Amino acid sequence: MTQIVDILIIGAGATGLMTARELAKAGKKVIIVEARDRIGGRIHPIPKDVFGYEAQLGAEFVHGEAKVTKALMKEAGLTFIPESGEIWTVRSGELMKAQSFVPSNKLFRERLQQLTEDISVAAFLQKYFSGKEYDVLRNEITKVVEGYDAADSTLISTLELRNEWLGNNDLEGGVIKEGYGALLNFLKSECLKYGVEIHLNEKVERVVYDTENTKVTISNGTEYVARKIVVTVAIPTLSSIQFTPPITQKIQAASKIGFGSVVKGILQFKERWWINGLGKDLSKLSFLLSNEKFCTVWTQYPETYPTLTVWSAGPIAQTLAKASETEIFEEVLISLSNIFKIDKETIRQQVVVSRFANWPADPFTQGAYSYTRFDTGTAYEKLAEPINDMIFFAGEALYTGKDTATVEGALANGKETAERILRST
Ligand SMILES: Cc1cc2nc3c(=O)[nH]c(=O)nc-3n(C[C@H](O)[C@H](O)[C@H](O)COP(=O)(O)OP(=O)(O)OC[C@H]3O[C@@H](n4cnc5c(N)ncnc54)[C@H](O)[C@@H]3O)c2cc1C
Repeated sequence: MTQIVDILIIGAGATGLMTARELAKAGKKVIIVEARDRIGGRIHPIPKDVFGYEAQLGAEFVHGEAKVTKALMKEAGLTFIPESGEIWTVRSGELMKAQSFVPSNKLFRERLQQLTEDISVAAFLQKYFSGKEYDVLRNEITKVVEGYDAADSTLISTLELRNEWLGNNDLEGGVIKEGYGALLNFLKSECLKYGVEIHLNEKVERVVYDTENTKVTISNGTEYVARKIVVTVAIPTLSSIQFTPPITQKIQAASKIGFGSVVKGILQFKERWWINGLGKDLSKLSFLLSNEKFCTVWTQYPETYPTLTVWSAGPIAQTLAKASETEIFEEVLISLSNIFKIDKETIRQQVVVSRFANWPADPFTQGAYSYTRFDTGTAYEKLAEPINDMIFFAGEALYTGKDTATVEGALANGKETAERILRST
């Protein structure tokens, strides 16, 4: 059976739901088709009864100003909780408090400021900080790039990072008390209120288009004919949809945009065994940074749940793409054991329940989030240019502001995309 619609949106993540709400509010007939059996995409909440709080296997923090997110939270009546607690690091071999996630080396900042031509962070460090005396600095910078941006340091743009690090945009933020799931449920209810149809378990296989219409075929055989479509899938998965005629230039542009990997886990223990770890008072621990495979560990401070979130990111996380859940669990125990200098088996006996998300292994994302490469050039603009004013590309990576890679970027891009479509009709 073929259904005819005004606008079809591929993907019910933050971008897809926001675009749909804005279009439907303006009177458009909108359908969202989503490959998964749930909305949210890279927002992946775990039911509260598992860990006792709104745990997140995908996005968790609200970063920076986040104007669109906070406006939506206000509409939804949700509460922002600023980050608090202490950041600790064992990167230099000794457990000590850190001021922030980003090292504050003066010479490094000066060299960043002086840079005129874009190079990768690895090349930048090699050029200016190759000496032995900079071993610690090189390691710190590389770990931030991998651990925070989930990026490959041989690819990520130094100029982009300069904007992030020198632009007074500190990396701290907060969380939504009720969790990101509540925000998306609000968006979903808004969509339904304005008449949007959301179809789950509908994976788009093919898009055939001419100058008049697009025909979208779902893996179950369903067909839609739409006047306009919005493609919100994550950058690496774009090539898994077969377009006729082929969208070769778009695929080429997408291949120039960096996309990092993250494996995230949450473990609940019998008790907070780490709070006197390594002879220090870690009762206010928020984040702990290390050189381990699971390089970042965090608590829900100021809440005192006996849980730790563990995070592996960047090229190291990519190496876990084929790992089974048991293998990931073992890797987590090894990292925790090395960080806290406690026998792995002692930690294992403390575990009550655990959940993991292997994002590079996820067929509908194939990674975690985007970053700008030193050779990205005009790839964003090329990808964002609609085809025949009919096929629009959207998602966190294509936000024109500075908050790409975040939920804010996805929501803001959803708004931008809806406005663009409304202008074109
Ligand atoms: C582990 C992790 C932690 C993160 N932490 C944070 C954080 O703390 N704060 C923050 O702001 N951001 C964070 N992010 C980033 C944030 O989650 C994303 O930027 C944002 O959610 C992206 O939304 P989106 O709508 O652009 O894409 P997505 O959420 O990926 O939505 C795209 C949708 O398209 C669907 N899809 C794919 N292929 C098809 C197909 N063929 N047919 C139909 N549907 C399809 C997918 O299933 C998905 O639902 C994190 C991401 C990850 C993975």
